[in-house]
Amino acid sequence: MIYALAMLQKTYLMSPGPTTVPAEVLAAGARQVIHHRGSEFRELMGRCLERLRDVFRTEGDVLVFTASGTGAFESAVANLFSPGDRVLAVTAGEFGDRWIAMAKAYGLDVHELRYAWGETPRPSDVAERLRETGAGTAFVVHSETSTGVVCDLEAIAVEARSAGALLVVDAVSSLGAVPVETDAWGLDVVVSGSQKALMTPPGLSFAAVSQAGWQRAAEASLPRFYFDWAKLRKALEHGSTPSTPAVSVVAQLDVALGLLLDAGLEAAFARHAALGRACREGAKAMGLSLFSPDEERSAVVTAIRVPESVDARELVRSLRDRFGITVAGGHGELASRVFRVGHIGHYDIFDITTTLAAVEELLVEAGAEIERGVAVARALEAYDQPARV
Ligand SMILES: *Cc1c(COP(=O)(O)O)cnc(C)c1O
Repeated sequence: MIYALAMLQKTYLMSPGPTTVPAEVLAAGARQVIHHRGSEFRELMGRCLERLRDVFRTEGDVLVFTASGTGAFESAVANLFSPGDRVLAVTAGEFGDRWIAMAKAYGLDVHELRYAWGETPRPSDVAERLRETGAGTAFVVHSETSTGVVCDLEAIAVEARSAGALLVVDAVSSLGAVPVETDAWGLDVVVSGSQKALMTPPGLSFAAVSQAGWQRAAEASLPRFYFDWAKLRKALEHGSTPSTPAVSVVAQLDVALGLLLDAGLEAAFARHAALGRACREGAKAMGLSLFSPDEERSAVVTAIRVPESVDARELVRSLRDRFGITVAGGHGELASRVFRVGHIGHYDIFDITTTLAAVEELLVEAGAEIERGVAVARALEAYDQPARV
């Protein structure tokens, strides 16, 4: 009660997307709209593409779509396949399931490597299922935002390559938060979006495409128009797009990528690892158990179980209504049991401690026995600890 400041409530967007946007990036979006065929836009887009290559760590093409991350993934399906092509889709959560549904909608022959939500896909299973099915392509979600699991993408890429399969990666919530080495790991298609670790409002999404990806696209026969990679690449080579892009979001992305690269990607990875560690340790100090893995790599979103006596949906609602803090609930059966704290992009340790302190307050009100302040103290301590190996 004493914490509720109804009129001037500050808000904290701690969801795993969309995420908080830095002030400089917000300001870039408030400038006058520019025309997408002029030299000003050409220069802007050229710089964005260069910066995107740095962030994806690729010398290859990065395509920019005015669409959400789902649109960029759909572009991969429409450009890489012919009807009936066989694909192996790895799923351990909401987004893995989404790509299965999409591939089926496009008439592909979809084989699944399915895990329980919260499990971490194993590279050896991917190898085995690729051999069993003979699929020419594998889909994998790098950071499964619905569960908090980040898989060992590098090892999975090794298996895909040795099986001769193209690897399509959903890196929507991981790119810019944890290492994604498009070229060094031999990833064929890497899909991401503007509204997570890239600290930009929703509206743009991306696909980095390898040489092998382009070769496949040239042979594939599924229909494509808005998402036609070849047409888009040709336009982007001239700093343009086939249709009107979200020009203001492109201007914002340019500023955000500048901030990210100026500070350095390695610094961003270290910060995300530390934020994840702080969030996990703080939650555990309150006596809560984690749903997401208690490991350094899973540094994108922390999924936390509520005590038996508490409904997670109620906790999520109260955090928002009383303290202005937006976290995410669990999906499906997890809705009443789990809440998820995103720390993707423009976040610091005090965003984590604020969230933990508010969770503590609500749980204590609900009757939980928690030593006051212990979560914040432990989170601050863990943030400064060197990484466990
Ligand atoms: C956010 C997200 C997406 C894309 O969602 P859109 O709402 O289409 O932008 C895809 N995959 C993962 C893992 C995500 O976190």
